[in-house]
Amino acid sequence: MIKIGLTGGIGSGKSTVSKMLINKGFTVIDADNIARDVLVKYPEIIDKIKIEFGTGFFDWRGEFRRREFGNHIFRFPKQRKKYEEIIMPYIKSEIFKAIEEYEKKGEKLIVLDAPTLIENDLHNNMDYIIVVWVDNNTQVIRLKNRDRLSRDEAINRLNSQLSLDKKRDYAHIIIDNNGDLLKTKEQVDKVIDFLNVINK
Ligand code: ATP
Repeated sequence: MIKIGLTGGIGSGKSTVSKMLINKGFTVIDADNIARDVLVKYPEIIDKIKIEFGTGFFDWRGEFRRREFGNHIFRFPKQRKKYEEIIMPYIKSEIFKAIEEYEKKGEKLIVLDAPTLIENDLHNNMDYIIVVWVDNNTQVIRLKNRDRLSRDEAINRLNSQLSLDKKRDYAHIIIDNNGDLLKTKEQVDKVIDFLNVINK
């Protein structure tokens, strides 16, 4: 099975590209969905978060306040590291399980859409890496608009990841998403032609 890693920075357009691939019938494993699902599937993660960070990030019903927690950990990198140490092993293990299941089913090619593919060393398990790239300014503006963040919050989030310029160095394919969606789609179509060739 051919494994394609699709990555980028926060708000660089990974999900936009991923949707284009899904629309063309590609199988995409979404690491962000897995990150949400593990919180439900493995309640011990929440227990570990409570032990490490206290109950302040839970409302009166005991619901996890993800947004506040997100802002907190992105403001304090050491705290983010602690959180990642708790949750990443679960996410990685679920990703590997999903890959294995597709392999067993006889799938010939899958795409793993993972924002921190490289930071978490998952790129070494992939055959090809696609990086969805935008310049820093565009990234801040799109992130601010999409998540209704202040400029500082957006920048804190961007600083938590390896820069997109560094990620480019790992890419076999770069999709430049600075332009409009049509320009991106044209590039995605070329990528699809390539994937169809290697998938024969
Ligand atoms: P994250 O990893 O944070 O989920 P992402 O890389 O998946 O981010 P998207 O959600 O695809 O990024 O895109 C970020 C925002 O930018 C979205 O609001 C999206 O609609 C918008 N966007 C994406 N590509 C373009 C484009 N080419 N032109 C204009 N807006 C775009």
